[in-house]
Amino acid sequence: MVLLPHSSENPRPFTHTIPGVLTSVRDGRRVVAVDIDTWSSICKRIYTCDPSRAPIIMDEIGGALGAELATRQKKETPFTEDSMADIVASLSEVGWGQFVFDSDVLKAFTSHKSDQVNFRIKGCAFNKLRLGGETPLCHFTVGLLKGTMSVLEGEQFRAWEELCTSKGDDVCEVVVARR
Ligand SMILES: [Zn+2]
Repeated sequence: MVLLPHSSENPRPFTHTIPGVLTSVRDGRRVVAVDIDTWSSICKRIYTCDPSRAPIIMDEIGGALGAELATRQKKETPFTEDSMADIVASLSEVGWGQFVFDSDVLKAFTSHKSDQVNFRIKGCAFNKLRLGGETPLCHFTVGLLKGTMSVLEGEQFRAWEELCTSKGDDVCEVVVARR
């Protein structure tokens, strides 16, 4: 799993340095990518070390990545009503899970004809956390979708998780809504 989509224009290939971690230099910045097991154990540590702040921390990390993806997308390709769908497709490819949504609902949301849009995530990468419990646990994914859409659309959105495999649901489902 990579934290940023590995695109073909990346001039340098990822090289192994330490097990489970790949690094590369992109736009003059070092990019660190971790595989799913390493990422899973990092997340587990965050949730077990600081349960009260972990949701905020994970939401912020996801939000920062989403903002980065959206900024990159806006810089590299003309902004269209399909921009969000393109980013979501890249999230699925990268390995966060299979993101499923109704494109008509997404278009209605981005054109202000609807106040919310739902994303279902099958095979969510955070299943591997297996922390159990009764509460949704994909704060990273919530932040990721919220951060991406907020930067793409230029307005602040709310987001929360309605369904989560961590509490026994078949899929995870994140709702992004206008404040
Ligand atoms: Zn979940």
